[in-house]
Amino acid sequence: MTIKVAMVGRPNVGKSTLFNRLVGKRLALVDDTPGVTRDRREAMASLGGMSFLAIDTAGLEEDGDTKLSARMRAQTDLAINEADFALFMIDARAGVTPLDKHFADLLRRGKTPVILICNKAEGRAAEAGIYESYSLGLGEPVSISAEHGEGLSELIEAFDKVI
Ligand code: GDP
Ligand code: MG
Repeated sequence: MTIKVAMVGRPNVGKSTLFNRLVGKRLALVDDTPGVTRDRREAMASLGGMSFLAIDTAGLEEDGDTKLSARMRAQTDLAINEADFALFMIDARAGVTPLDKHFADLLRRGKTPVILICNKAEGRAAEAGIYESYSLGLGEPVSISAEHGEGLSELIEAFDKVI
């Protein structure tokens, strides 16, 4: 049976960038405008020789609200209920935002195992955010740079632990 992995988190943290890297094609739209990806996308992906179905959640505009919108919640719920585990991504450069905390609360309440990912972790600007991410209560984060392809071997180790 195919393992399903959902990428969740607020807009602009780099979900689609990671999705594209794991899928190896530019299937998911990446843009500098937060939340520009309108549809949820699924494609077969691989990491460290393991194949799985990656689910990129998106289509959610940030309206400046720090609460989780009904659409965001619904899409995240759907994806994580279907998935064997979730990759919950934050932007380590931005630090932990109120919206990240709402996502973390939602994920902690669910049954789906979660790997916490601190993305945009290239360089020193991410250090404080990585430290802060422990406060989300989702265990030790995996620091990566989806854009530069860094930290993927640590991600493979995290996959091995949840599978
Ligand atoms: P999504 O809304 O969560 O799907 O985020 P996107 O994948 O569309 O990325 C949002 C922005 O963050 C884009 O400008 C990306 O180029 C940028 N980005 C993604 N990954 C990284 C990373 O590892 N480092 C840095 N510095 N920027 C990144
Ligand atoms: Mg996206």
